[in-house]
Amino acid sequence: RTSQLAAFKDEATTSSDGKHPILAANIGTLDDLQAAIENGAEGIGLFRTEFIYMDSESLPTEESQFNIYKTVVQKMAGKPVIFRTADIGGDKDLPYLHTPHEANPFLGYRAIRMSLDQPDIFRTQLRALLRASAYGNLSIMFPMIATTIEFQHAKRIFEDERQKLLEKGVAVGDIKLGIMVEVPAAAILADQFTNLVDFISIGTNDLIQYVMAADRGNRRVSYLYQPYNPAILRLIKHVIDACHENQTPAYMCGEMAGDQKAIPILVGMGLNEFSMSATSILKSRALIKELDSREMVTLANKTVSMASTSQEVLKYVHQALDES
Ligand code: PEP
Ligand code: MG
Repeated sequence: RTSQLAAFKDEATTSSDGKHPILAANIGTLDDLQAAIENGAEGIGLFRTEFIYMDSESLPTEESQFNIYKTVVQKMAGKPVIFRTADIGGDKDLPYLHTPHEANPFLGYRAIRMSLDQPDIFRTQLRALLRASAYGNLSIMFPMIATTIEFQHAKRIFEDERQKLLEKGVAVGDIKLGIMVEVPAAAILADQFTNLVDFISIGTNDLIQYVMAADRGNRRVSYLYQPYNPAILRLIKHVIDACHENQTPAYMCGEMAGDQKAIPILVGMGLNEFSMSATSILKSRALIKELDSREMVTLANKTVSMASTSQEVLKYVHQALDES
């Protein structure tokens, strides 16, 4: 089975009717990058840069960040790499920042909220990314965006750093800027973001926990962590449709993107990029080769309209795929 899958390593991902979704990898370290390349990733859909901050005893310097970002884009040799700016806070605390304890860290001072509040840390990271962009295909996305104002604020800071580097004669590449859609408010208003951003990446790990109001790390409420709940599926479809109405690419980088039971539905919704852990890429490519995207459109529409529970959706997807 593994050797059969290995045959797909250097192939594009093509559905049986000729659609080409991109299969990318989620990574957090240079070791993960190796696994992504070995498993035939067509890009990096999520580089979790906060790992660089967590692996350090103090704030990582611009130079040390630059070296990592440059290595990643160079090793990907022109394939697209999306760096997420530091998603610190929530369950990822940095002791050396001495952030006050919060009663609800997942609803608190986290990700872009912290970046906009401590712009020196944010600007250092953006400079490192801007400099690395001269060496490959580099995009940047901001985590936990809730409002368009936050995106516009982050973009202004980015443009300011870009301008300063250009004035110093530093080479900078052409960078696409996007957001993670993982806060329900941003998902609901996706159409208001699509003409501001270059792409959207749906972060289902957080989106599900916020839509279902169930902590993703709390085993006692894990029964509510339901990727196939029609409430989640409708919201995802709403985001993808809003993107496509504006010719904005729609990506996904939560665990759901690599879930073999969710992929047929997401192919039907027209998702443009699936970013997953490296070990899921080859089997997902094998699965997508078997799917007819037109049949999956019907399947996806059924799941959002008829079913009322996760169980019903799963049963329906199972039956439909068995029959095709
Ligand atoms: C997500 O929330 O879906 C996501 C990809 O980000 P993380 O898991 O790092 O919060
Ligand atoms: Mg997240």
